[in-house]
Amino acid sequence: MRYSILADLFDRIESTSKRLEMTALLVQLFKNTPPEAVDKVVYLTQGKLAPDYMGIELGLGEKLTMRAVALASGKSLREIEELFKKLGDLGLVAERALATTKSTSILDFFGAEVAKRELSVDRVYNTLIRIAKAAGEGAQDTKVSLLTSLLKDATPKEAKYIVRMITGRLRLGIADMTILDALAVAYGGLKSYRDVIERAYNVHPDLGYIAKILATEGLEGLKKIRICVGIPVLPMLAERLSDPLEILNKLGGECLAEYKYDGERMQIHKDGDGVIIFSRRLENITSHYPDVCELTLKCVKAKKAIIEGEGVAVDPDTGEMLPFQELMHRRRKYGIEEAMEKYPVVVFLFDCLLVNDEDLTQKSLIERREYLKKIVEETERFRLSEGKIVRDPKSLELFFEQAISEGCEGIMCKAIGFNAIYQMGARGWLWIKYKRDYKYEMTDTVDLVVVGAFYGKGKRAGTYGALLMAAYNPETDTFQTVCKVGSGFTDEDLAKLPELLKPYQIPHKHPRVESKMEADVWFVPSVVLEIVGAEITLSPLHTCALGQVKEDVGLAIRFPRFTGRYRFDKSAEQATTVRELIEMYNSQRKRSSL
Ligand code: ATP
Repeated sequence: MRYSILADLFDRIESTSKRLEMTALLVQLFKNTPPEAVDKVVYLTQGKLAPDYMGIELGLGEKLTMRAVALASGKSLREIEELFKKLGDLGLVAERALATTKSTSILDFFGAEVAKRELSVDRVYNTLIRIAKAAGEGAQDTKVSLLTSLLKDATPKEAKYIVRMITGRLRLGIADMTILDALAVAYGGLKSYRDVIERAYNVHPDLGYIAKILATEGLEGLKKIRICVGIPVLPMLAERLSDPLEILNKLGGECLAEYKYDGERMQIHKDGDGVIIFSRRLENITSHYPDVCELTLKCVKAKKAIIEGEGVAVDPDTGEMLPFQELMHRRRKYGIEEAMEKYPVVVFLFDCLLVNDEDLTQKSLIERREYLKKIVEETERFRLSEGKIVRDPKSLELFFEQAISEGCEGIMCKAIGFNAIYQMGARGWLWIKYKRDYKYEMTDTVDLVVVGAFYGKGKRAGTYGALLMAAYNPETDTFQTVCKVGSGFTDEDLAKLPELLKPYQIPHKHPRVESKMEADVWFVPSVVLEIVGAEITLSPLHTCALGQVKEDVGLAIRFPRFTGRYRFDKSAEQATTVRELIEMYNSQRKRSSL
């Protein structure tokens, strides 16, 4: 398959502002892709070489990329640097440099002309993998020469996208779910396809792999995919409520109430003496927590296991739990030993998804917890979450107060019936969170996506005055605006915002954004910020839940404020959903009428 097909498609996707058109373009692409290349096509479309949890990085910075562009185009490095200063996007620089190359022919070792070879998807993908894998002495030169050889054969348009991919700037804003939709249509068109594909993706969230199995083995192949050690599953998520009676009613009158710890979610995979830890977002975070790996090896008795827990930073002197932010000290490449001493972590385990080769996800929570108890030898630093079976609202409230007094955020209330399975990738009513914020503030914090920005004036000239924030609507796969937020930002935040958001800037509203407001600047929905507000109100200015609560109006957050928490651990699709906001609006109304 020719790489130019992909480059043309990227061009078209970049210029469309309609979501449906984007999906239609992808469907067309998959229909025209030979089955053996579909995995590579999917990865390249996402601007990746593999799913994030594999942690493959190209490792070629701007400097080295410019060197390759210079070599491939026959221009000097100075010329390339000048162009970069002017254009600000290395992809455009490569396109321009190659388009204005004096001679497009290539000379071989003896000075004879060699024709350009047409680039195939295979060659681009395989070369990028070789660039990523080059290591050790001379690795930088190898990377540059591999890229140079690719660019020499590329058309200007192809070069633009190869370079964007290399520098991590190929951001078309295509959600995994959109790719799943397009695959379902391309390979079958039936709703049943979509469900099977999604289930397979929840168990094995590697889009290239899913596409390849679908293209080569069909639905039957997908149905055979099983949970296994080493591949993270999409985590089960909780709904939220703020009233103990309502919670119990939803859960059939009884539940397992557990402390809700404020730390980092960890999906821990153990196989023999190997341990991998995945984050809430399925990144491989093993290197941040050597201590947790050691604890797992020491305390988990089963040879193979997948368990889940919350890692919480504690004060080394008092053992007191510290807020979530303190864990950020662990997100570093160097000095981990020191961070481990200063910010030790306690892991509170709350689920068990696999033991040896037994898949436990279809078993009830009580059974899963039994397995957990059986395979874990608890210690002070590695133990089961505090939990209690509760059957009346008063006990639930008391347990909640107890959790708060011990430094937790609230409680998690979990269904305990025989059908209380582990719902991978789903936010459902089997788990309900009940947090302090719901009780003591007018609204809970929400995690919203930056979709646009307005220029600042006066003191804020040169940065943004406010950001346009949106909630996610999974039903339409769009981002619907819910507020403009300008307060809560420190001077430091304000200074870094333009830099932080620049890689996502696009010249028009993104096709997945629904907005009635005209922002000065638009972004690919990517960056998630935690926002708190005074209340949720009806508003004709915003598109969140438009017409769903009341005709012609949407929901808005009044007096929104940035809490200071950048949710880099969340993708745009993991932001607060429109449905959650509708529920928050309804429960707020209920409370105010009490
Ligand atoms: P969400 O993960 O639901 O999208 P969020 O990241 O904002 O939202 P919270 O609203 O704080 O997180 O609540 C859910 C998270 O609480 C879980 O993802 C998990 O990391 C954490 N957690 C803490 N204690 C528990 C527990 N006992 N059981 C399950 N999850 C827990």
